Amino acid sequence: MAELICIMCPKGCRLNVDEKNGYAVTGNTCEKGAIYGKTELVDPRRVVTSTVKINSTHARRLPVKTNGEIPKNTVEKAVELLNGVTITAPVKAGDVIIENIFGTGIDFISAKTVED
Ligand code: SF4
Repeated sequence: MAELICIMCPKGCRLNVDEKNGYAVTGNTCEKGAIYGKTELVDPRRVVTSTVKINSTHARRLPVKTNGEIPKNTVEKAVELLNGVTITAPVKAGDVIIENIFGTGIDFISAKTVED
């Protein structure tokens, strides 16, 4: 039996996940918790936020995020991909910064609009 805190909302329910019983989840208040509990053990994933360098008179760093969840074990390497990236303004919120991270179909996108 694995014990987890659900991170899908601020309530933070304490979940118990029974790996020997089809990853049955107890302690959840809603269905999101059941899905989170099972996924966290079978295939944990995360949305990633970070920043990249930007050439602009308005900012030095541009906030970026993934437009979906990527496998948790690839998060560190995904952030490393951003180290060599420098964006030249202008850039709009939602513009793709790195496409198709590790073939996941998920992109890093700009989280902010920055003028030049
Ligand atoms: S189980 Fe539902 S109510 Fe509880 S923390 Fe998760 S999302 Fe929130």
